Amino acid sequence: MIHPDQPDWHDVRGLGRAEAAARLREEGCNELPGSRHRSLFALILEVLREPMLLLLVAAAGIYFVLGDAREAAVLLASVLGVMALTLYQEQRTERVLEALRELSSPRALVVRDGELVRIAGREVVRGDIVLLGEGDRVPADAVVLAQRNLVLDESLLTGESTPVHKRARTAGEATSPPPRPGGDDLPYVWSGTLVVQGSALVEVTATGPRSELGRIGKSLQSLSAEPSPLQRQTRVLVRSFALAGLGLCVLLVLAHGLLRDGWLAGLLAGITLAMAILPEEIPVVLTVFLALGAWRLSRRHVLARRAAAVETLGAASVLCVDKTGTLTLNRMRVHSLVVGEASFRIPTEGGAALPVVFAPLLEHAMLACEPEPVDPMERTLHESGRRYLASDRRFADWTLQQAYPLTRTRRAVALVWTRPEGGGVVAAKGAPEAIAALCRLDPAATSALLAKVEALAAQGLRVLGVAKAEVAGNGPWPEDPCDFAFRLLGLVAFVDPLRPTVPAAIAECKAAGIRVVMITGDYPGTALAIAREAGLDAGAVLTGEALDALDEPALRAQLARVSVFARVVPEQKLRLVEAFKAMGEVVAMTGDGVNDAPALKSAHIGIAMGQRGTDVAREAAALVLLDDDFSTIVEAVRLGRRIDDNLRKAMAYILAVHVPTAGMALLPVLLGWPVLFFPIHVAFLEFVIDPACSIVFEAEPAEDDLMRRPPRPARRPLFGRRILALSLLQGLGMFVLTLIVYALGLHQGEGQARALAFTTLVVGNLALILTNRSWAHTLPATLGRRNAALWWVVGGTLLALALALALPALRGLFRFAMPTPSALALAVVAGLAGIAWFEAFKWLHRRNPDRPGTRAA
Ligand code: ADP
Ligand code: MG
Repeated sequence: MIHPDQPDWHDVRGLGRAEAAARLREEGCNELPGSRHRSLFALILEVLREPMLLLLVAAAGIYFVLGDAREAAVLLASVLGVMALTLYQEQRTERVLEALRELSSPRALVVRDGELVRIAGREVVRGDIVLLGEGDRVPADAVVLAQRNLVLDESLLTGESTPVHKRARTAGEATSPPPRPGGDDLPYVWSGTLVVQGSALVEVTATGPRSELGRIGKSLQSLSAEPSPLQRQTRVLVRSFALAGLGLCVLLVLAHGLLRDGWLAGLLAGITLAMAILPEEIPVVLTVFLALGAWRLSRRHVLARRAAAVETLGAASVLCVDKTGTLTLNRMRVHSLVVGEASFRIPTEGGAALPVVFAPLLEHAMLACEPEPVDPMERTLHESGRRYLASDRRFADWTLQQAYPLTRTRRAVALVWTRPEGGGVVAAKGAPEAIAALCRLDPAATSALLAKVEALAAQGLRVLGVAKAEVAGNGPWPEDPCDFAFRLLGLVAFVDPLRPTVPAAIAECKAAGIRVVMITGDYPGTALAIAREAGLDAGAVLTGEALDALDEPALRAQLARVSVFARVVPEQKLRLVEAFKAMGEVVAMTGDGVNDAPALKSAHIGIAMGQRGTDVAREAAALVLLDDDFSTIVEAVRLGRRIDDNLRKAMAYILAVHVPTAGMALLPVLLGWPVLFFPIHVAFLEFVIDPACSIVFEAEPAEDDLMRRPPRPARRPLFGRRILALSLLQGLGMFVLTLIVYALGLHQGEGQARALAFTTLVVGNLALILTNRSWAHTLPATLGRRNAALWWVVGGTLLALALALALPALRGLFRFAMPTPSALALAVVAGLAGIAWFEAFKWLHRRNPDRPGTRAA
């Protein structure tokens, strides 16, 4: 962002640091009281509403009525266990979100002790001097001390969407309290409103709850917790599961009550079945995956402002990215100067003196920069000026009178300077076409100029034209810089190297079936040269102007073949996003300026730049890229795909595992066999299953073909028919085996049979975890993959099972009898055998890679 019109803050001291800290303690943080933190109590209440816990409590109650206090106590203890586990996960999720919120909260540029520092918006205090720039959200109510072209959008407070102009406070005016917002030309700004243009130096008058925003109790949209599409989709799934389960339970209670006697025992069997069927892991898994996904992204310097973005990333099929700063380093260096037919190549270091013909060009290029530039292009001009021009000193006592910033229609900056001895100069630099227009070159001269530009652009250089005009005395200055009599001085070419990681990242996208589209305000030739260097298949380039001339069908036809868009203004990005969306693509779009916000909002995945980006862009975006680097986007997509994969694996596992559990709770009762399961058994399985799916599968590393397959179709449901069938079959296999073990075991007595069937089920459960870790690789191939959580779960479960079998007290509790070692061995083998067919199936598919893959797709 350039601020040719930034007010000078250099003679302002602002608050002292100690003073600011004291005031912060006294008056509190600059934030609105809100529901930022959920209390532990609220969390516990929420957890207690979980159906699973209610079932456990109900079962404990029944045992109590039956006079079995020990069973009741154990179940209540397991209630505490489940609660602790849930709370732990919730807290973990909450902490992650909290940390992300902290990172994405707005920042403010304040002057403290005479230095410009960027602090968190919540640390702004009354009396702070704040520097506001285009795209900033005003951090607190304040009075305007100085401003240039300041325009604000105050619709948040007034509902009025027309932006309002501001002026600086005059000597006699009150500093506070500011009157209510509304109306043009007031010297006050209010917390929460947006700077849409210009910049200002303001002094804070009220913060936090004392600001106008705080008084009316409005809250800014913060990190949203809105449910993602997947979450919505699964909510329906869970509900129908639960309803079907409820029906079965009623059936079971009736059957038990009528066929055998004992309604309470029937109720217990019903509750056991309900516990076995309830898919309460699904919402837990989703929350954990999305929250941990956001955390993983943040470690790669990507902030997820919406959980849904984590999920959509894996499906991205088009990445629309800015050239400057995202594909390139935005580290400009003056490469060469061109005056007439002569050109001068500026060496990287040392080197020759500047031939005198080039001096006016460089001088005026410098004069067309703001005095303390932040724009890399302007900084390098200043550096070159210091290096080559003795005249540098000469400008120290000149006065900046007027600035004409870049506009949508004129890609040039012009600054008016006056000399102390009288008279002055207007210096302009900008896109060569714009400079040619300012100089009113005739068509022949224009095309001669553009031919030179084309030659430089073909080397990937960014080219600016420079012009000057003499002015007599003092203003008034014209509205439009066209009214000056500009004379062309020449061209300046800049190098902006490609980020070294970009070609590899683009190649990766190509392999992954993701299209990369470059969008830039730069010259077409430059854009094309950089695109080629980056390895983009840039057939042709389309300019913003040509874009405007196309109707929808023509635009779509162009989009099918063009991947480079040049001389585009931010407003045109929206049209590109919508066109891609209409073509069925899942679009990611980067942006940083105020005018990028609509496109960022409209894209499936809006990506704002953390370094260069404005608050407005950040708020509109789903992701914030902290390092502005294109390859980080590709990494995020890779991570999104991995999360997507793992989510499906976890879901497949959950579905599979519920089949034998529910089946074994239901069928023995219906067959008139002894009851196998009691609530305690299901509670044991829950302790394995829950951590298994949320932690083990979340930590699972990526499949190796992750970035060599096409993106997932946007509308694919969580469970395709294929994945649904395969995981139900896994569960069915396990069910049949457990049933056989139970039936055979019954010859040795009920206690033995229960111990054996339970062993088969627990081992089978672990086997299901192991086999579902990959749908592409067989089990032996995945055993070597790192996953610490997995081995904790496997080890802990086996230990618990061994204890339940070996310790007489636990044996009593579980109603087990010690089986013979050979029977036990058989039960273990049966548990492992349940997944054999699926392993064989994976192996066959690996041997025939031409057939549709078996990965979790
Ligand atoms: P990009 O999409 O590459 O970031 P911009 O939209 O920032 O491009 O700039 C587009 C064009 O506007 C540049 O090619 C240049 O001609 C002109 N321009 C940008 N910044 C400046 C500046 N500070 N001074 C003069 N001209 C500029
Ligand atoms: Mg369950």
